[in-house]
Amino acid sequence: MMLQEIRCPQCHALDKTKHMQYQVKSGEIRFIYACKGCHNHFSETKNTPLAGLRTNMDTIIKIMKSLNEGMSINATCRTFEVSRNTVRNWLDKLGSLKKTLLLYAQCQKFVSQIIEGDELYTKVYKNTPQDESQGWTIVLMERASRFIWHLKCGEKDHYLFMDAMGVVAQVIETTQKLSLFTDGERRYGNMLFEICHEVIRTGKRGRPAKTLVENVIVRVKNKGSQAHKKGPKREKYQAPQPEHPATTLATENHAIHANHLEAFNSALRRKLSCYRRRTNTYAKNTERLQARLNVQWIFHNFICKHFTTKKVPAVALGIVEKSFSIAQMFRMQVLSTAHP
Ligand SMILES: [Zn+2]
Repeated sequence: MMLQEIRCPQCHALDKTKHMQYQVKSGEIRFIYACKGCHNHFSETKNTPLAGLRTNMDTIIKIMKSLNEGMSINATCRTFEVSRNTVRNWLDKLGSLKKTLLLYAQCQKFVSQIIEGDELYTKVYKNTPQDESQGWTIVLMERASRFIWHLKCGEKDHYLFMDAMGVVAQVIETTQKLSLFTDGERRYGNMLFEICHEVIRTGKRGRPAKTLVENVIVRVKNKGSQAHKKGPKREKYQAPQPEHPATTLATENHAIHANHLEAFNSALRRKLSCYRRRTNTYAKNTERLQARLNVQWIFHNFICKHFTTKKVPAVALGIVEKSFSIAQMFRMQVLSTAHP
């Protein structure tokens, strides 16, 4: 599977000829292809975010950049004189690529990954007590590459955590050694354990022990002050569940923390206006908030060079050879479910 190939939307074949060309309102020339397999005719923008858009690409690029550099939707609409629905439509179209890109990333194989995980919080629609807010956002980031595996918002409930751990379980499938470090809730460890455990049979009597699968470790932060407590000092992080006896990761002694993720979270507050503190530019609902997150996910992973690593995270992780431009993203075909 290649990300930038143009396939026939009907039979998914790559083999095609140029049938004719046409000019769009902005003056750009586009092609209609003829599929050699099923003789279907299709435009080069079929199934891409660009299909059906009439605004020229340069304007769309400027607006997408402003939105992902901290400008609010209202301010963007006033500055560029576009309607809010138009901007939302572009965000949705670009965001629809996330599924394809994530699937592509999940098809790769990895030797080892350190994933940092945490939640951050923003208001949605109106002020509510934190516990009732729908603006909880779980972020899971691979440390060395800064690749974001998961970026999803919602109520802080079982589903939000289970969804995130489902993604980790998927990554575990294609990774030889994986560590998950979190400053967030203990639930991460427990839920991952629910999904990825093995039953160790030792031949001894009694119920066989359950452990995490081999070469996976989890460390969660011990929360709360220790100042007034008696007894030996607790470790800063602890393993919430037993690990597989053959796991060699713990001895590798890599630093246990989620500092890089903390840096990402403050960047997110700077870059997405709906995550800024003391703001009144809340997202209207979780669906709109998630739409912003999907686009931010694409920008962060595939388009923008990371400030510290000087690399685009998807390149640093080794899943693509080079970064994409916003224009290239708009020209990428969204994977159809019937794809081979
Ligand atoms: Zn075809």
